[in-house]
Amino acid sequence: MSALTATWFDGRSSRARPGQLSCPAPGTLRLESEGEVLEFATAEIELSPRLGRMPRTLRMPGEGHLQVEDSPLLDQWISGRNKVEGWADWLERRRTAAIGAGVATVLGVVLFFQVGLPWMANKVAPVIPRAMEVQISKQAMAIIDRMHLGPSRLPRERREELQGKFRTLVAGLPRADQFKLDFRDAPKLGPNAFALPDGQVIVTDQLVDLVESDEELLAVLAHEAGHHEHRHGMRRALESSAVVVVAGFLFGDLSGTGSLSVSIPVLLLESNFSRGHEREADQFAFALLKRRGQSPATFGTVMERLSRHHGEKDMGAISYLSSHPASAERIEAARRAAEE
Ligand SMILES: [Zn+2]
Repeated sequence: MSALTATWFDGRSSRARPGQLSCPAPGTLRLESEGEVLEFATAEIELSPRLGRMPRTLRMPGEGHLQVEDSPLLDQWISGRNKVEGWADWLERRRTAAIGAGVATVLGVVLFFQVGLPWMANKVAPVIPRAMEVQISKQAMAIIDRMHLGPSRLPRERREELQGKFRTLVAGLPRADQFKLDFRDAPKLGPNAFALPDGQVIVTDQLVDLVESDEELLAVLAHEAGHHEHRHGMRRALESSAVVVVAGFLFGDLSGTGSLSVSIPVLLLESNFSRGHEREADQFAFALLKRRGQSPATFGTVMERLSRHHGEKDMGAISYLSSHPASAERIEAARRAAEE
């Protein structure tokens, strides 16, 4: 049992008596001095605070005081607690900090997915090789074709006429040479249009039937061109796959990342553009239409026609054109753009 050297001033005489201080059992201190043995409950002892290497003073009720060489043992004995209890106390006092750290972590993760990830996707999308855009689009198109689409019933001359107008619409845009307009019959989907990450824009025969002028169709195509110029498709695909990757690291399940090249086209089909992307594509369309001498109001007209046709029903996998943000808001934005 370890003991500390002590000097005892018993309070009755002025003599300094040499002694040994030890802790025979938790909660008890024993002082041995010149053949005399005294025991105290640690709870009754007052210990002076530590001051550099100064000896510590212990006041004992009715028995004067002791001067003891400083030692970590003293605090251990007198605080009456073992190491585990000490840790529990330390943690308890820091519980607020721990809760704060937990909340900050959750906020950080949320911020990462809401802000950081889109920001990164925006940085990464422009450096994705063209060949990958083409490959991903080809795979996605194969899936959509199998599930929803058939060959267009439109006469070839009509298709070529609209393709010519589309070329004129996008002429001079930074990615102009990547655009390609194609048509598909889609009785299940109805009137719709969507852009793939490689610049391919698909319009359903049903949309060509629904619109009352080529200008209305061009307004939709201008919106789809906006998605391609802003690389929304690739950004969305990157964001979706980053969720798979990050979730894999966070939760230790990496099974989702093995087939990323296969899963990107599927992710592309399963997620919609964000409201922000839709608004961005709308604004792009308004500006482009104006530059071509066409009123953005035609976009409002065709959106109105579409939402009347589709109603509020969910269009399922490729609801690219409708639904969000609320059509009414987009129609109103088109009207405002026409008046500016
Ligand atoms: Zn869109």
